This record gives sequence, structure tokens and C-alpha cells, in this order.
Amino acid sequence: MRRQPATIYRRDTTMKAIQAARGTRDLLPPETELWNHIEATSRRVFARYCFGEIRTPIFEDTQLFARSVGEETDIVSKEMYTWEDRARAQSEKAQSLTLRPENTAGVVRAYIEHKLGETGLLQKLYYIGPQFRRERPQKGRYRQFYQIGAEVIGPTSAGSESPLRDAEILEMLATLLDELGIAEWKLYLNSVGSASDRPRYVLALQEALKEIAPKLCADCQRRVQTNPLRVLDCKIPEDQPFIETLPKIAEFLDADSQVHFAQVCAALDACGVPYIVNPRLVRGLDYYTRTTFEFVHTGLGAQNALLGGGRYDGLSEAIGGPKAPGIGFAMGADRLVLTLQAQRESQNATAIASLADAYIAPLGEAQQVQALVLARELRRAGLRVELGDGSFRIKKSFEIGNRLARRIVLFGEEEAQSSIMTVKDFASGAQTKIPRAELAQALQQR
Ligand code: ATP
Ligand code: MG
Repeated sequence: MRRQPATIYRRDTTMKAIQAARGTRDLLPPETELWNHIEATSRRVFARYCFGEIRTPIFEDTQLFARSVGEETDIVSKEMYTWEDRARAQSEKAQSLTLRPENTAGVVRAYIEHKLGETGLLQKLYYIGPQFRRERPQKGRYRQFYQIGAEVIGPTSAGSESPLRDAEILEMLATLLDELGIAEWKLYLNSVGSASDRPRYVLALQEALKEIAPKLCADCQRRVQTNPLRVLDCKIPEDQPFIETLPKIAEFLDADSQVHFAQVCAALDACGVPYIVNPRLVRGLDYYTRTTFEFVHTGLGAQNALLGGGRYDGLSEAIGGPKAPGIGFAMGADRLVLTLQAQRESQNATAIASLADAYIAPLGEAQQVQALVLARELRRAGLRVELGDGSFRIKKSFEIGNRLARRIVLFGEEEAQSSIMTVKDFASGAQTKIPRAELAQALQQR
């Protein structure tokens, strides 16, 4: 039988290595440990507040976002990844699909699709996952980023409009940020009024904008025409002095909206959660009504918003569902990671936690399989164990062990026969002999 010649892959030096697409990135260990810490802490806190997890598809019908987030928002007008799907039959029109730029629309769609309102109970749902926006990538701003969010939504009869729901969400967020170890956060709070307050305010805003519009940035000049509220959301520093002169929405709230907002504030006061009322806070999505909020971190620089959210009492109806008032938030996990990393750096914290409990070094190839068996025993006892290679010289075993673990367990011929292990602790330099049967317990002690 003739052997097939092996395929040879040659390195093509003319070809550029392929890189992750602009605005996307790989998350690698040990950083992923921090991600897991953030996600696990969030899940734990959400569970205490009786939220259940929802997972919606990564892409949805484009119309969902156009109708909920709003055609004139930056997200829908310029940041979405949208494509025409292939038509299933020639007679059919291709469907327009979009990678989700946020998750509230998907959650509310699912609420409607599964008739969750018919349970008569409040739905308390949280999600963790990637979102996609074609933005200019910079620190804390990516094209694929990760949000951790939650929504409370339900029929009015279930109490979904109650200001206590707003306060409960905000109080939960204060608790979550504290438990995550975010040292300095600020809560900015505002009310953007109900669907009936808004048109009166927009009229007054348009009137005031007539005069200052020519002095604003190009985006704002467009917003004046398409969606004047968005002008308040502008981040261009040069525009801020002009925006300061615009009327405030607080002056246009009707009695119901005023009472609702006062009750949210009073409940937060009762819980001792500090907040700052910011009358300019309108948020970038069209669906918000009444309470809006943002938690910021002073150490983050320009991208300082850790999370944002608010009430969306008319959202379900806007996408064809029953009346289902709700409130929710989305937290930028990427920005939480940046904040915690910066804090750790400033505290000079070392990455001790990522070191394994032990590195097992087989001292020859004959001990290799038995060393694997020992590693199996220790791992099954719950220890974090790295396994070396029997072909290494002892010096190399020590070098690698020192980089990966807090202790080295030498496993040579003598240890295999006597079942007495030699263990060296890297930090103290102490070397001890420990019977194999007692090894797991000994290694458990820090
Ligand atoms: P920003 O003002 O920073 O653009 P936003 O108002 O667009 O935020 P939301 O749509 O409310 O933000 O999303 C909630 C949170 O998601 C933000 O507070 C932020 O932490 C995070 N976030 C939003 N866009 C990005 C992005 N492109 N990259 C990383 N995180 C993001
Ligand atoms: Mg944005």
C-alpha cells in the first residue's frame, strides 16, 4: 500500500495574520475570572430579589428595535448590524434581521409572545449576554460588549406601575455594586414624565432650540428636527453650556408624574440609598417614561456610565402587546471589569487567587501515570491542581511550579513506593513530608 503524502502547510509570509474584528476582543484568563466573579455575584444578588433568568436570541426582527428603541435614536439610525436574511421561497420577501443592540426589547417581545401577562403576576427577569453596536471603539466602548440587566414587567393589576418597584430596583443595584466591590458610584435620577407630559415638553424644547440650534454640533442640529429630546443626551463638551439653558422637564410633569417621582425618592431615602436628581438625564432610548437613572463611576473617564435604565410603561403596546408597564436597567459588564481592574491595580493586589493549590511534579516518566492518578484524587477532593511532565528536569519543574501554584508536590520513585509525599511551599520555602492519605487535607489549609 502506498502512503499518501502528508499535506504540508507552509507559512505564507505575504499573508497578514487574521485578527479579531474592530471593536471586538478576546477575553482571556486570568481576566475571565473577574468576569465570572461579576456574573456570579449578579446572579446571587438577583436570586435574593427573586429574579429568574431569561435568555433571548442574539438576533431579532429589525422592526423590533425600530419600534421600541426608536427610529431616530443613534442606536437604530446608525449603530445596528442589520442584514437581509435569505428568503425561504422565491415568492417571499427576505426578512431584515439585526444583532441585538440591547436586550429590553427582546425581553418584552418574549413577555408578549409567551403571554406572561396572563399569569397576573409581576415578571422579574434578568439576562447576561453580548450586545452589538457599531460605535467608534475606545476604552470602555466596544462593538461587541456585554450587558447584565433585569426587568420588572407585568399588568397594572400586579402593581407594575408602583414607585416601590422603581425604588426596589435602585436599591438592588446599590447593593449589587457594593457587593461587587465597586468603591465609588453615584446614582443620577430623573423623571422624564408620562406619555402625556412629553409632547408639552417637546414643544417647549423645540421653541427654545430654534434659537440655539445653529450653535450646536451637527448631530444635535439633526436631532432638533427628528427627536429634540436627544439633544439633552449630547456628550459634546462645547454643546453643554447651550444645553444648560434649555427648559427642564421637571417643570412639565403633571401631578401624577410628580407624585410618582416624589414617592420613588422618598422610598430611596427610607432605604438610605444616596442619589442626585439630574434634570438633564433623558437617556438614549425612546421608550423611557417617568423614572430614568444612571449609575456612574468617577474613575472611568469619558465612558463613565456603569449602567442605565428606567421605566417603559408604553413599550409593550408599542410593539403590539397588552398594556404592561415595566422598569429595568442594563449594566455594562466591560465597564465593571475596567473599574475593578483599576481598583485592584491601585490597591496593588496580587493575583494570588489564580495560583493553583499544588503543582504535582512527576520526577521521571515512570511516575507520570501515577502522578495523574494522584492529581485526580486531589482534584476530586476539590483542590486546584496542575500536573507537570515526567520528562522535565527537577529544576524546570520547580520553575514552572513556582509560576503556576503555591506548592509543589514531588512525586518520584521513593514517594511512589513509600506513599509519603514531599511538599514544598513556595512562599515560606518550608519542605514537609506528608502521607498520601493526608495530602488532600493538608493542601486544603492555606
Ligand atoms: P453611553 O452613554 O456610554 O453610550 P448608553 O446610554 O448608550 O451609554 P445604554 O444603552 O443605556 O447605554 O446601555 C447601558 C450600559 O451599557 C451603559 O451604561 C454602558 O455601561 C454599557 N454600554 C453601552 N454601550 C456600550 C459599548 N459600546 N461598549 C461597552 N459598554 C457599553
Ligand atoms: Mg451609547
